[in-house]
Amino acid sequence: MRVAILTSEAVPFAKTGGLADVSGALPKALTEQDVDARLILPLYDQIDRGFLNGDSIEDIRVEWRGQVHHVRFALSDAAGAPAYLLETPEFFARPNIYGYKDDHIRFAYFSRAALALLKHLDWQPDVVNGNDWPSGFAMQELRARRRYDPFFQPIRTVLSLHNVGYQGFFDPGDLWWLGFGERPEVDDFMLERSASALKAGIIAADALSTVSPRYSREIQTRDQGHGLDWLLRSRADRLVGIANGVDYTIWNPETDPDIAANFSVDDLSGKRECKIDLLRRFGLPQDAERPIIAVISRLVKQKGYDLIRQIAPAIVQTGSFFIALGAGASEYEDFLQQLHERYPREVGIYKGYAGEPLAHQIEAGADMFLMPSLYEPCGLNQMYSMRYGTVPIVRATGGLDDTVEQFNPSTGTGTGFKFGPYEAGALLEKIREALYFYGRPDDWKKIQRNGMLVDNSWEAAAKKYAELYREVAQL
Ligand code: ADP
Repeated sequence: MRVAILTSEAVPFAKTGGLADVSGALPKALTEQDVDARLILPLYDQIDRGFLNGDSIEDIRVEWRGQVHHVRFALSDAAGAPAYLLETPEFFARPNIYGYKDDHIRFAYFSRAALALLKHLDWQPDVVNGNDWPSGFAMQELRARRRYDPFFQPIRTVLSLHNVGYQGFFDPGDLWWLGFGERPEVDDFMLERSASALKAGIIAADALSTVSPRYSREIQTRDQGHGLDWLLRSRADRLVGIANGVDYTIWNPETDPDIAANFSVDDLSGKRECKIDLLRRFGLPQDAERPIIAVISRLVKQKGYDLIRQIAPAIVQTGSFFIALGAGASEYEDFLQQLHERYPREVGIYKGYAGEPLAHQIEAGADMFLMPSLYEPCGLNQMYSMRYGTVPIVRATGGLDDTVEQFNPSTGTGTGFKFGPYEAGALLEKIREALYFYGRPDDWKKIQRNGMLVDNSWEAAAKKYAELYREVAQL
């Protein structure tokens, strides 16, 4: 089985969120399932050139706006599977991964170059697995090329949906010169009065996957379908939810090189050292008896910051420390700044994208981790938290509901605390419940142990992806 994975971000190359963690781990896990999985992504400016092998594939012909471009892909094995990185400075030598007016053009170009690469290599995958809206163009283009190019004819496609809230909207006036100007394509892209790369991808892909079973059902509802629920319902027979795994070679407190002391489920003593280290890093009093409640997330509405904002003073008044790492909307960055200024000895903040080490240090040093998301396709930090003995407090939505089990003191089962309604009061109540059990060390240890022993490794997920590829290849 041969699979080409197209992605806009992947660890260790470039990351804004969970998509990078998944794209970085899945190819390696697939390799262990005897799948020849190869990664294709853009070579952004920010990518450490030390990851590249030094050789490259030269002179690939990409037809673009009536001309032929000759492009290059650099090679890397840093993700544990072959990766091809498209070098096009005009589109990718920029400080950020997304956020430009021409994002749709950049990823349409990437899609075209990725398909050109496959043909140039004469490496014919059974399946091209695209990810999110940036791959919508490739799904469309591949379907079209199957009609006239024998190289593409046997290739099938899967589009993995990591977040239906991002749809890659653009001015439909660009469709024509991007190469999608004919009748069926235009209709496939159009949503309201915009063109949506995600919608076009959902229509063109042979099959769809999402990153948790519950999210695969939620996106078929009006509430959570972001305007595409009707389309996703119509494709329900080809839509499967596969929960993300955790790369335990990267997220493992027993071996993590970035944390102050390693620890394990049998010996948690190092976690206290990590806690002191974390308080020191954020300039907070090094009082290890008081609980640390932490959050790491993109600062967007989806992550539930509106709830956190309403109860932040109440959290501080419980006697806990509050530590937040996040980058995103200025309204939430300003809120964090003001909170820190008001409670400098209780609240530690880092605004911006911090890279991996600080995220690991927070997971290791905190006692509780908040994820009160409005919606959450899968979520990774709750699973990282569990492995680090940091108890997640989550809203029962999407992958959070699938991966966190509410603690039950009478049976001693459960890995965290879970609330239902999207309300600040419900979140605060769960925080208070968690704090109550934090004050009962035997119960707390039990919850920590339950979480640390959960196996969310990629192996199970990779098996499900391999199964999906086999089914799709037979279509
Ligand atoms: P999403 O993909 O919606 O952003 P996930 O929970 O699936 O959410 O994944 C988020 C990933 O991004 C985690 O690995 C988390 O540690 C990381 N992350 C998020 N924000 C930051 C930040 N400001 N600095 C460092 N890492 C971050």
